Amino acid sequence: MPIVKLAPAYKDYIWGGTNLKEKYGKKCDLNIVAESWEVSTHPDGPSTVVSGPYQGKTLTEYIDALGKDCLGTKGKEFEFFPMLIKFIDSKQPLSIQVHPDNEYALRVEKEYGKTEMWYILDCQPDATLYFGVNQSITKEEFRERIENNTILEVLKEVPVHKGDVFFIKAGTIHAIGAGITLCEIQQNSNSTYRVYDFGRVGKDGKPRELHIDKAIDVSNLNPIESDFKPAGKPVSDENATTMLLATCDYFTSFETTLRGSTIIDVDEESFASMVLVEGNATVENDGEVLELTKGETVFMTAGSGPVKVTGDCQWIFSRV
Ligand SMILES: [Zn+2]
Repeated sequence: MPIVKLAPAYKDYIWGGTNLKEKYGKKCDLNIVAESWEVSTHPDGPSTVVSGPYQGKTLTEYIDALGKDCLGTKGKEFEFFPMLIKFIDSKQPLSIQVHPDNEYALRVEKEYGKTEMWYILDCQPDATLYFGVNQSITKEEFRERIENNTILEVLKEVPVHKGDVFFIKAGTIHAIGAGITLCEIQQNSNSTYRVYDFGRVGKDGKPRELHIDKAIDVSNLNPIESDFKPAGKPVSDENATTMLLATCDYFTSFETTLRGSTIIDVDEESFASMVLVEGNATVENDGEVLELTKGETVFMTAGSGPVKVTGDCQWIFSRV
């Protein structure tokens, strides 16, 4: 059973919108969908297999049933499943936050740290986000500015465009602004240290918790340079144009635009996933045929070999 379709876990965080339901075909009972966790073994929201004989199993149960070899020679070297892939729709800004690196998170949170990548699918014309600091600051100044609500003054606010790539290394203070729909590829972690929440209250009417001491421990307080462009140039064959978005120790992601048919090779090194972000696609491998519509996700075990994709569509392919 080398390729299966996945259904996500949904999150209705207070800042979410309705784009994932209205434009990405997400069907659920929640009024707002802030996030859909498309490829997830995280206990806070595992995705579910919805095709083939393992239908109804979580992705975690599916991988357990097949054995760790299905993650590939590189994929199985990780102690935990390495990746978490989400759609995010921000009607309001997310909190200003930072994530720990592996060393800190494994010690303090007993899970992986979180380096993440955002690929912007859609945004309002004036959308922005926060990416690191705009000047070097000390830990003392960082604490003071969190405590007196002036942290935004020292953060770098960046305009956002469709197709931009934001690589958020662990330790980078950040926040997704309002009016942005994106696909996030990240380490398998839910460790977030919130430092500022725009004076909002949570669903219970109380301010959401801040994690100031931990944030001060892990934050990079020097500016980071980036052009927010994909890591690679577009490469075209007859029907498909593929571009490397970002690569790091935990994930490598490509975007492909297709008119017609093409073959993807899923080798023995890593499992892979394909998240369809535009159009419809037929995905075929070893006698299995899956019909995908915009917003749907396929998980492919390592060594699946040639996967034929047909359609007028665009997707994000990720592997270790
Ligand atoms: Zn984050």
